[in-house]
Amino acid sequence: MAGTITFEPIDRYNAFLATCNNASHGSGKLAGVPVAIKDNISTKDIETTCASKILKGYIPPYDAHVINLLKAEGAAIVGKTNMDEFGMGTTTENSAFGPTLNPCDTSRVPGGSSGGSAAAVAAGMVRMALGSDTGGSIRCPASFCGIVGLKPSYGRVSRYGLIAYSNSLEQIGPLGKTVNDVSTLMSVIAGYDRHDTTSQDKPYNHTPAAEIKGLKIGIPQEYFGNGVDPDVAGVVKKAIGRLEELGAVTVPCSIPSMEYALAAYYVTTSCEASSNLARFDGVRYGPAPDTKKPWHDAYTEVRSAGFGTEVRRRILLGTFALSSGYYGKYYAKAQVARANVRADFNRIFKDVDVIAGPTMPTVAFKLQEKSDPLSMYLADILTVPANLAGIPAISVPCGKSEGMPVGLQIMGRMFEDERVVDVAYAYEQAVN
Ligand code: GLN
Repeated sequence: MAGTITFEPIDRYNAFLATCNNASHGSGKLAGVPVAIKDNISTKDIETTCASKILKGYIPPYDAHVINLLKAEGAAIVGKTNMDEFGMGTTTENSAFGPTLNPCDTSRVPGGSSGGSAAAVAAGMVRMALGSDTGGSIRCPASFCGIVGLKPSYGRVSRYGLIAYSNSLEQIGPLGKTVNDVSTLMSVIAGYDRHDTTSQDKPYNHTPAAEIKGLKIGIPQEYFGNGVDPDVAGVVKKAIGRLEELGAVTVPCSIPSMEYALAAYYVTTSCEASSNLARFDGVRYGPAPDTKKPWHDAYTEVRSAGFGTEVRRRILLGTFALSSGYYGKYYAKAQVARANVRADFNRIFKDVDVIAGPTMPTVAFKLQEKSDPLSMYLADILTVPANLAGIPAISVPCGKSEGMPVGLQIMGRMFEDERVVDVAYAYEQAVN
């Protein structure tokens, strides 16, 4: 499934689905359900590339923890999905396999970096999919493709077998067409795993409930301010109005630390990536180096040929920011900004139960519309705060602008994933 999504195989796919549904996959929660997997999640005996040339042909010798859990519940894993290389991007254009197209309008991007997973669900190729979200990579494509996506609280889903981009921020999470599907997939993948040192013993056994009477929703002014398309903001405000009709109460609030959130995110992730990606050196992973050359020439050759432009940019940025004399100026400061984001959320959550706003500042961009990295990074402004704070956040479709889907984002207190799911469910039930 990696690479450009075309629609001819749908018939063949439907035939395949019929076989899956008839096949015996036991009696688990996902018996026979077709699920697609983002290609940065290790699958035993199935090539796992992170959409990078450097991992071409890499066959993991083990399954990620979440894959074991899916198999135990009888899921039919039907393929690996395209993504931005190593998760670095917002459009799925940074893939060595070429871009994935948005099934709602094929002249547009599906969002990223889990764009292949979102497109596969939106196009009806699979019922559900797994993605990963370091700074919005589940919620952004869910929003752009008109489906539901949940970034779980940090620690709730094991990262064992997820090929790391920025460990301190990322989580594996579910994508689906409905809140119920997302909740079901979450109930399969959440829980403690001794192989992940950041794993928490917080299983998710929840059936979505649509009751939100008296619920307090914080509305941060920054989520409706500069840089957010007024039409998108209008659609989301209307959706929040629906939640008020259901008995929720809105409370205006502010996240002043958002001014530094994007910078903190990009410094932290680039630093972690520069360290995580050091293993792709042609010795441990990647094509074998030319051993006749001096080691640094051979090493440079393997990495220059294997990594795409964006990945190289971030490795350079991260290596620079961590270098002696600059560490305090960049990395340490980013951690202070991150603590401030967390403190802002803690303060707001004393008064409200959840926080709501748009998932993305705009609808899906046209392919190749964002040519400079900075304007691409800016699109992540509404999603990265939840990762910096570690809190759960869901995106649920809430209407259209320019004929394209808009996502409503609900963020909750740490480990209150159930509550954000319930709010999304209440909205979904009210509009359907
Ligand atoms: N767009 C963000 C980035 O490029 C988020 C990516 C992600 O969540 N994996 O880093």
